Amino acid sequence: MTKRKLGAVLAVVLTATLLSTSATASTPSWAKARSYYEERGDIVWEVPTSEKYIAFTFDDGPDPNKTPEILKVLEQYQAKATFFVVGERVERFPEIVRMELAKGHELGNHSYQHPAFNRLALSSVSKQLDLTQEAIFEATGTKPVLFRPPGGYYNEGIVELSKSSSLQMILWSWHQDTKDWAAPGVSAIVSKVLDNARNGDIILMHDYVYNSTQTVEALKEILPELKNRGYSFVTVSELLTHKVTPDHHIKVNH
Ligand SMILES: [Zn+2]
Repeated sequence: MTKRKLGAVLAVVLTATLLSTSATASTPSWAKARSYYEERGDIVWEVPTSEKYIAFTFDDGPDPNKTPEILKVLEQYQAKATFFVVGERVERFPEIVRMELAKGHELGNHSYQHPAFNRLALSSVSKQLDLTQEAIFEATGTKPVLFRPPGGYYNEGIVELSKSSSLQMILWSWHQDTKDWAAPGVSAIVSKVLDNARNGDIILMHDYVYNSTQTVEALKEILPELKNRGYSFVTVSELLTHKVTPDHHIKVNH
């Protein structure tokens, strides 16, 4: 091998090494965090199941106009859903959360004022959770067992706080983030859900979006289609009861 050829080979090897190193480094650091928290059951993104269940979730309500419209569409398709409510709004519209519960849906804690948790001391986060549990209890006589942090932000302290408050932290399927809060258009929301739907999905939507009716319009297309595909729509707590471990899954199939 000539010196020049050797140089070229070395360059290729070096480039390959650098590429593989940078590929590892560019993997999101929280991808590792996800499997860590997911295996321990500390945080749920979706639920592995062999059954055709999907959980719709609606954040940031209650809203006196949009929430009842969403409830109406859900009822039309015998769909149960989970509403992650904001405590301050629960105090303003207690009749709406009572309606959610009366229709068989589930309530989850979504903080009291929807602040950015990354800028709050843990004691303030704790206060946000407690005030919301109290607001929901005041309105309905029950306390939720699910919690979703605003924007999905979490850290070790928030995970521990959630556990010690007996609240299961629930995020959403990464392939089912509809971004309906940004009003991307009804068809964008519809295709996001329909193109990606699979067993055990937790779909992220919002029942309080300023100046947008896209969520409810999208639901009118999504629900009948998923129903045609054989899906049933359940609360997050119910979806969790259908979780299968990989071992169990194998036994079921043989
Ligand atoms: Zn939110």
